Amino acid sequence: MTITNDWKWPHFTKQEMQCQCGCGAAQMDPAFMDRLEELRKAFGKPMSISSGYRCAAHNLAVAHTGISGPHTTGHAVDIRITSPDAWQLLKLAVGLGFTGIGVSQQGPHASRFLHLDDLTAPAYPRPWVGSY
Ligand SMILES: [Zn+2]
Repeated sequence: MTITNDWKWPHFTKQEMQCQCGCGAAQMDPAFMDRLEELRKAFGKPMSISSGYRCAAHNLAVAHTGISGPHTTGHAVDIRITSPDAWQLLKLAVGLGFTGIGVSQQGPHASRFLHLDDLTAPAYPRPWVGSY
């Protein structure tokens, strides 16, 4: 992939947004990243990214959405978080225009997360709340 120096979101690194298959792709949508940065500022605390961009092959391997899920669009992240922070983040995310909310809040706290995206209908069924 092309290495660029135009990463402009101070609270997030390109590395944490990269596909975790090792391909190095981090094709995050700039408008989505702007929205995520706004959310980070409103939240006021670190947000730990457990999944950012995914290439089609990696998404096929790890998600039920096959080769074209939300993470392949650069419009989605998963954030390691648990209540009460999860409640606060969810509240802020809805107010800032995130349209897809995935909730994984069962089991060990360290593996709990929220999925956030800003996808739109008709390509995706949005607004949407799902659980894992
Ligand atoms: Zn990949």
